[in-house]
Amino acid sequence: MREFRIAQPGTVEELAALLAETKEKTALMAGGTDLIDELKSGVSQAGLVVDLQGIASLSGLARDKDGLRIGPLTTVEKLAANPEVDNDYAILREAALSLATPQLRHAGTVGGNLCQRPRCWYYRDPEVVCRKKGGQHCFAFRGRNKYHAIMGGGACFIVYPSDLAPALISLGAKVTIGSDKGDRTLPLEEFYQPPSVDVTRENALGPGEFLKEIRVPAPKAGQKGAYVKIKERGTWDFALASAAASGVVKDGVLAEISIVAGGVAPVPRRMARAEAALKGKTITEEIAARAAAEALKDATPLPENAYKKELAAAAIKRAVLALVGT
Ligand SMILES: Cc1cc2nc3c(=O)[nH]c(=O)nc-3n(C[C@H](O)[C@H](O)[C@H](O)COP(=O)(O)OP(=O)(O)OC[C@H]3O[C@@H](n4cnc5c(N)ncnc54)[C@H](O)[C@@H]3O)c2cc1C
Repeated sequence: MREFRIAQPGTVEELAALLAETKEKTALMAGGTDLIDELKSGVSQAGLVVDLQGIASLSGLARDKDGLRIGPLTTVEKLAANPEVDNDYAILREAALSLATPQLRHAGTVGGNLCQRPRCWYYRDPEVVCRKKGGQHCFAFRGRNKYHAIMGGGACFIVYPSDLAPALISLGAKVTIGSDKGDRTLPLEEFYQPPSVDVTRENALGPGEFLKEIRVPAPKAGQKGAYVKIKERGTWDFALASAAASGVVKDGVLAEISIVAGGVAPVPRRMARAEAALKGKTITEEIAARAAAEALKDATPLPENAYKKELAAAAIKRAVLALVGT
């Protein structure tokens, strides 16, 4: 394992100043469940690790009139166990409990989950210099690509592995990004960036920036949601395909709907076509199936992952039917 220095700021101001000053390759550490693996394997070459655990203001989960405020250091377990989440944001609880193992949920944080690096086996192999690590090729394109993207690939065919991200995006969550230049807030949907923007990173965090807060809007009357995750194994596993559906049902009609798929693209993928096919309708199994098929129309699977098209459609259909209670 490479040697690295560790810094432990006590406030966000200290963190921002430290990140602005340092010239070293730096990695932020929350629970460390993903980062430590990357440091051990050498995939992360950070010379300075900044431990966030001493910054109290980055922790905690609170409800106010505007909705839910989630500090990025909130553990996944605390998110799942929160009564406000259980009552009004059940989709978040479902997504949180679907991920990893109880031990990882106790140590892993919401911010770490939203900023985790991809699981692509080429990216995770320290011997392989793929495009994400400054190389010339995406080895998944011509190599082994069973678990890779079927939509939105191009320069890089990772799939974004977070289960929380699709659920939070479907709820209209926003994130605040901090730095020594001040804060900026953007929809979580825009926080994730496709490989065409910058293949070496998955999100909008630039040098010196960190995730400071996640906000989920107050639920609307009649708002419901469902998260469906399809895995290869019965035990812990990342999603082969998943779907988060949040919407408002009024007089038996799906008045509002937001669908986000995981496991199919380098970013959590908004399924606008399915949304258009469902909005304003009384949902039947046939309508849900047709909308799901419509959503996957543009999929361009690689040689080993055409099966994902069917799985993603099934996840979308099941999430929509669960949302309307069919
Ligand atoms: C065996 C295993 C199974 C897993 N299964 C699943 C699964 O099914 N679904 C799923 O969604 N996830 C899964 N995960 C991923 C797991 O959820 C993440 O490891 C965890 O959530 C990361 O949280 P952490 O606090 O430990 O992050 P860390 O390891 O500390 O950090 C992860 C990344 O986020 C960055 N980061 C952390 N906090 C911030 C911040 N505030 N601002 C900017 N960057 C930040 C770090 O720099 C690092 O790059 C699995 C992980 C393992 C090891």
